[in-house]
This record gives sequence, C-alpha cells and structure tokens, in this order.
Amino acid sequence: MMSPKYPLAFLPTPLHSLPNLSHDLPYKIYIKRDDLTGLATGGNKTRKLEFLIQEAIDLGFDTVITAGAQQSNHCRQTAAASAKAGLSCHLLLNGTSPDSLQGNLLLSKLLGANLHFSGEKSKGRQKALEILKTNLESQGKKPYIIPVGGSNLTGALGYVSAIAELKQQMLTQKISFDYIFFASSSGGTQAGIMIGMSLYQLESKLMPIMIDKESEIEEPLEYQIFEIIMAYNHRSQQKINLMPEEIPLIKGYNTAAYGEVTSHEKKAVKLMAQKEGILLDPVYTGRAFYGFWDILSRRLIPENSRVLFWHTGGLPALYAYHNDLQNI
Ligand SMILES: *Cc1c(COP(=O)(O)O)cnc(C)c1O
Repeated sequence: MMSPKYPLAFLPTPLHSLPNLSHDLPYKIYIKRDDLTGLATGGNKTRKLEFLIQEAIDLGFDTVITAGAQQSNHCRQTAAASAKAGLSCHLLLNGTSPDSLQGNLLLSKLLGANLHFSGEKSKGRQKALEILKTNLESQGKKPYIIPVGGSNLTGALGYVSAIAELKQQMLTQKISFDYIFFASSSGGTQAGIMIGMSLYQLESKLMPIMIDKESEIEEPLEYQIFEIIMAYNHRSQQKINLMPEEIPLIKGYNTAAYGEVTSHEKKAVKLMAQKEGILLDPVYTGRAFYGFWDILSRRLIPENSRVLFWHTGGLPALYAYHNDLQNI
C-alpha cells in the first residue's frame, strides 16, 4: 500500500561505522545518518513529511497546521517542507512568545511559518489545534492538521520506506545488525520501523529509548505506537500480529523532564562530538545515545554484537540550549 511521496529528503542517508567508539568497546558500532536528510538542517521528520505533504496536496489543502515545543524539530521541518511545497504553515507552540528567537524557533520563523503560542499550559493541545483550524477556515483557508511529531500512519510510512532503504544498504555493505537503537518520543518513527521490519523481514532487535517522562504524556507511548500499527493493519493486506505489551521500549533514561539537559545528555553529546566529530542534540539523540552508551558500557547485550545507532537529527536545538552546554 505504498503511497506517493513529495520529495524533500536526500536519500539514502549515509550508513557508516563509528570506528573510534567501536575501538573502546567490544561492539561493532554503526550509525544511520538521518541528521543528514537535508531539509533545513535535516532530521527524522523530513521522511514523515514526504508522505504528509503529499497527502495535503492530494487532498487539496493550501495550509498546514502542526504543534510542538518551542524547540520542536518537527515544527521547523514542517515549516521548511511547507515553504518548498508552496503551502502556508501555522505552528502552535507551547508557552509564551520569547524575547528573542533561537534555534529551531528562529529557523521556523525564517522559513516563513506563522507562530502561535498556546500560553503556559501544554495540555489540551489537540483542542487548540482545532480552534486554530476553525479560525483559518473562517478566513477561507483550507488547513490540514499534522499531528504532533507527524506521528500518524501517513507520517510513519516515511520510516517504513526507511527500512527498505536500510535493508538495501545492508546488502550492499554486507552487514547485518543485532540491535538497532534510536530515540522514541511521539511514536511515528518507531511504528514505521516496526511495520517496515515486519514487511521487509528485518530481524534485528529494536532498542527504542523512551525520551519523554511518563508522567508528562497523555497516553502511554505503547498505545500510540499500537494505534498506528492497527491503522496500518486496517489498510493493508499483510497484517502485523502483535499486542501492545509486545512493543519494545527502553525506559529508565527518561527520568528527567522532556528538554531537561542533565549530565547524561551532556556526556553523550560530548562523547559523540569529540570521538567521531558528529553532533547530537541535547533533547532526543543526546538522551538516546546516553542510553545506548550506558547499555554497551555495562555489557548488557552480548559482546561482539553489531549495533546500529539511528541518528534522528535535532542540530538547531544545540544553539538554543547553549547555556546548558557551556561547561561540557
Ligand atoms: C521527533 C524526534 C525524535 C522522535 O521521533 P518520534 O517519531 O517522535 O518518536 C527523535 N529525534 C529527534 C531529533 C526528533 O526531532
């Protein structure tokens, strides 16, 4: 049931080894560079937006609305995708308008998005999105709502095809992975990866590191992922048999609040930067890579395993979190 997509990303993204990090541990470590998808500093949302933007165009919409944190990589990539596709973009952001724009927020503005601030409360975001939609409709616009993180079935298709891409690279480079690690937050990346693995028969064990603190999210992440997989089953011939309890999620690295930069994230950002010359972000990939490094350092998976860390982007957040990153 592959849908058409609107081209936004430079694909395939590189897949390469991390020799310096592999040297320090009894593992063969690889990285998949979705920080290099290329759309206004890249990231994982670009793959999702290829399908979401195409759907918006196919259905005759002229405006895109989405929501997120002020430093949302998803909002920034949505702003860039909308600019390229000639759609107008409205972003509903948590909190109040800051004195000066930084990081992703600055880029979203530069990319032409209309910024709306929801005030202090971040709950009831879906309702606020509906209100914004009604307002825009009353002005004669045709707004298409992209959910937080682009995480619905349409967005997840970006990661279904990313698995086909990875599988091809594994064949060409003659490698396989025992474990695949990545940051999981709104669930679309993980749902797409799980659907893709089932579709393309990839056997690696998934190690999704949960980013958000459980008390801060409205619905358990397992259910959000499960719902996307069920939506896929509803539309496709090939069914994926699984229970919500079978959805892998590594918890324990999400004890600090979303966006809180602790010694863990700092350690991870520093390690990757200074060992491999690769920039992680302090919110998602820094947290996920800390979990990855911790699990490997403690030999919690068998030695000599071949492990993949899937970099999902987030570069501009480094600039916005500059205060937290001074003494690294
Ligand atoms: C959004 C995001 C993620 C998480 O992806 P989900 O599909 O929301 O789970 C990971 N890393 C970065 C940099 C992101 O922006």
